[in-house]
Amino acid sequence: MKPEIVTMRQAVDPTVKVGTYVEPSDWNAVVDDPDVLVIDTRNREEVELGTFRGAADPGTEAFTEFADYVATLDPHEHPTVAMFCTGGIRCEKASSYLLDQGFEEVLHLKGGILQYLEDVDPADSRWEGECFVFDDRVTVDHALQPGGYTLCRGCRAPLSDDDRLDPAFEEGVSCRRCAAELTDDRRRRLRERHRQETLARERGDRHIGRRDSA
Ligand SMILES: [Zn+2]
Repeated sequence: MKPEIVTMRQAVDPTVKVGTYVEPSDWNAVVDDPDVLVIDTRNREEVELGTFRGAADPGTEAFTEFADYVATLDPHEHPTVAMFCTGGIRCEKASSYLLDQGFEEVLHLKGGILQYLEDVDPADSRWEGECFVFDDRVTVDHALQPGGYTLCRGCRAPLSDDDRLDPAFEEGVSCRRCAAELTDDRRRRLRERHRQETLARERGDRHIGRRDSA
């Protein structure tokens, strides 16, 4: 999983043209409108963990590929396009680009998915799954609480319960995505680091235990 990097091959100046911001409280109406093409501008790995109901997945590995996806869309077929991303920054550039490409109306979710999860009642939510975040929580659920994923230390991919049951999973070292590609040297270093961390944690637990019983 790569960090969120806002780059596109095409030169885009978001100050020239910007799409229309949609407040999180108005976003459900956009998602529910069959005439609006809703696009998830995040990477495929992120979309797989969760997205808005019915949203299109451009299937990109990196945001730089977004322009290639846009080239497959006909602006006359989709006069209104709505976009969203994690924090609302990535789609500002994307919306500017779509306007340049002749899409008539381009909407984007103000504050991104995270603001939506904060503002909208889970009972009314159009969000399905968990949202990948760029910190230790890996993903958050609708209540913005840490979700059910951990990060693979070998390749930084988010791992579900199923991934952790796979024979190729080794805690602190590898998962089914990267196990075959890890070099012996890297595997050794990851194992050693995991061993050190486990020892440190156990020492910490014992320390806390002593304090509790004192
Ligand atoms: Zn991995």
